Amino acid sequence: MSTISKRIYTNAGTEKPHAHDVHHPDGHVVQFYETDAFLIDSVCGYIGAGLGAGEAGIVIATPAHRRAIEARLLADGLDLDAARARDVYIARDAAETLARFMAGGSPDPERFATVIDGIVARAARDGRHVRVFGEMVALLWANRNEAGAIRLEELWNDLRATTPHAFTLCCAYPMEGFAGEAHGQAFAEICARHTWVNPDEGYSEPADADERRRSIAVLRQKARSLDAEAAERKAAEQRVRVSERLYRRLFETSADGILMIDSAAYTISDANPAAVDLFGLTRERLLGAQLWQIGLFPDRETAQQALREAREEQPLRSEALPLRTRDGQDRYVELVATRFQASGHEVIQCNLRDVTERRQLEQRTREALAALLAIAAAAVETRRSGDGAARQEEPLEHSLPHRLAELTCRVLGCRRVGITAVEPGTERLRAVAVVGLTPEEEPGWWAEQRAMEAREARLGEGADPADVARFRAGEIFILDMTAPPYRDLPNPYGVMTTLVAPMRVGEQIIGVLSLDYGGHTPHTFTDEEAALAGAVAQLGALVLDRERLLAARAAAEAEALALSEANRRMDEFLGIASHELRTPLTALMANLQILARPPRPPSLAPGPDTPRPRPRRAGDDGSREQVLLDRSRRQVERIARLIGDMIDLARIREGKLELRPEPCDLIAIVREEVELQRQAHPERTIIFAPPVTASLPVHADPDRIGQVVTNYLTNAIKYSLEERLVAVRVEADGVDEVGGKVARVSVRDEGPGIPAAEQDHVWEMFHRVPGVEVLSGSGVGLGLGLHITRSIVERHGGAVGIESAPGEGSTFWFSLPLDPTRD
Ligand code: ADP
Repeated sequence: MSTISKRIYTNAGTEKPHAHDVHHPDGHVVQFYETDAFLIDSVCGYIGAGLGAGEAGIVIATPAHRRAIEARLLADGLDLDAARARDVYIARDAAETLARFMAGGSPDPERFATVIDGIVARAARDGRHVRVFGEMVALLWANRNEAGAIRLEELWNDLRATTPHAFTLCCAYPMEGFAGEAHGQAFAEICARHTWVNPDEGYSEPADADERRRSIAVLRQKARSLDAEAAERKAAEQRVRVSERLYRRLFETSADGILMIDSAAYTISDANPAAVDLFGLTRERLLGAQLWQIGLFPDRETAQQALREAREEQPLRSEALPLRTRDGQDRYVELVATRFQASGHEVIQCNLRDVTERRQLEQRTREALAALLAIAAAAVETRRSGDGAARQEEPLEHSLPHRLAELTCRVLGCRRVGITAVEPGTERLRAVAVVGLTPEEEPGWWAEQRAMEAREARLGEGADPADVARFRAGEIFILDMTAPPYRDLPNPYGVMTTLVAPMRVGEQIIGVLSLDYGGHTPHTFTDEEAALAGAVAQLGALVLDRERLLAARAAAEAEALALSEANRRMDEFLGIASHELRTPLTALMANLQILARPPRPPSLAPGPDTPRPRPRRAGDDGSREQVLLDRSRRQVERIARLIGDMIDLARIREGKLELRPEPCDLIAIVREEVELQRQAHPERTIIFAPPVTASLPVHADPDRIGQVVTNYLTNAIKYSLEERLVAVRVEADGVDEVGGKVARVSVRDEGPGIPAAEQDHVWEMFHRVPGVEVLSGSGVGLGLGLHITRSIVERHGGAVGIESAPGEGSTFWFSLPLDPTRD
């Protein structure tokens, strides 16, 4: 047993225990250490003390340790070269030496004995005692060859027992190699292979038995708490294992696809069965691939960019990524990518959920809404002016219902949609649109529908009357075309189930919407589908009805337009004709008046700007020329009157009939006209009965009022027999509807009378009472006089009327407001 010399190896001033304090008794010592400095200190103490005592030293260590040991020995004044030359100091590389006797991971005893005993023998020459320091066991231990290390310790023990050379052995192990509970057993075994154990520098040798007990107590407490910690750690590990198992189970059974991505290489490091299903690729094919290679992103750059974002913003979420699967399906997946650390390196977990159906549903809902809106828009859209012509060529049956059918198809996502119009009143059916048939099928379908129209098929024909009543009341029917009674109907397109919905406006059915989903199995209509179909049918009905009303209105407008155009032309014609005729007539009249004596001023009657002619009595001077002249004058006057009427009519219609009202006496006007008619018709008896008052002041155009009286008088004369009386009355004490004072002029005849039904119509232009003949005087009129009369009187604020019955003569009257400013 030897103790390291304090003289040589004192390292005073530090608090920690030092290797020179450590015992290196004769035998097989093990030295544990924390730091190289401590080890070097310890080994140098051990070897140095031996050399100092004339013993030999063998160092089998790593190059670094050898260098440090030798540097220290040199510094301590040892002549190493000399020691080496005499084999008093022998140094060997631990790894190389170990390699010389290791076989299959274990030290070969024979080779060990040969190699090591050889070295020891050289050092032990001349009977020297040898101190050996070896690190080969530590190398094996560091390489996790624990069994090899223990075995080597045993071989050293065997060698010490069998060799003739006396040697002491010191092994050294770094304590870090034993960190961990798992090493407990092996550590104990290592200690057991040694005759002396030197703890590492963390331990200080107790001074006496009391201190030893105390330090043992402290160590036991430490050991205890370490045990507790170890137990806790074990429990924690167990928990981790459980949660790992749990996670793994979740991973394996998750309905979402899960891909683990190596965040450095962007490759898939793990994939669960759901991901395998989702991508339609084997797990092996997925592992090592990048996301873009399995159809998730269009290219490498996009995929890597997404993963980079996932690393930066936690977590990354993509609502609907398009995915093209291996079998060519286009699907949509929701991606949630989360970054986390696993076993010291970063991974990105991508959870993928197949949202194809949800997206399709959303898409359909969106489309359905858009289509419904389009239908609603069609229901309220105003016909643009430019549309009119286009629609006339393309009547409603061919454009709007077709659009409606297409929209319905989109809303309901069905295969075929047909719209049949129901004629109001007759309830005859007329197909107006179909969509969903192939171009080859469609002409056949239309031909069939036309044939149906030709035989005047009606709503509900051949169906159960109770069903028809319910249909009329708005019920939707789903017909199984494979079962009676519909099985027997012609069904060229093999429809299995069809839905028919009434298109109603109020209580009236204006159409039938039918649709089907095709397919070889009957479609089960959900309540929602049926309700939606019903709503679409109602909306569609509004659209159709509106279109029908618009078309009707357009027709009425066109008719009104045509009529007003005709009227305009007629007015134009009247204007031109009147003026063209008037000019030569004025000239003719002037000539006739010059010929007749005495001359009269040229004029054309009647008109606002020309005084009407005063007829002369025929045969004033009895000469034949005079008689002829007189007759011609009357003819010309009649033509002039007709033309005058035409001009007046044109003016009335254009709102251009001019009045020149002035204060005048109604009695005087009437009297003058009566006089004129008496002169013109000396054969007639015209009674004039003015009121007792000398005059009746009115504010009126005397020519126009005179014209009115003349019209009444000439009609009375014209439509009654020559021998019949004509009576003219002027009354002063009338009142109008609002209580104003009026004068009333009436002309009574004993003609045929006018039936009540005709009395309102005689005031219409061109109207002539059937059966009323011209009985005397001038010829046939145009049916304008009374129309003009009424216009003139009403323009004066007066009223006209008839009192008459067939066979009892007629009284035509008009009233005029009295001029309140004068008596
Ligand atoms: P015209 O006499 O030139 O035909 P009017 O406007 O003056 O045109 O009269 C319209 C129609 O009313 C006449 O065609 C005639 O049929 C009927 N009528 C007018 N006055 C009388 C009357 N006094 N007695 C019976 N029928 C009359």
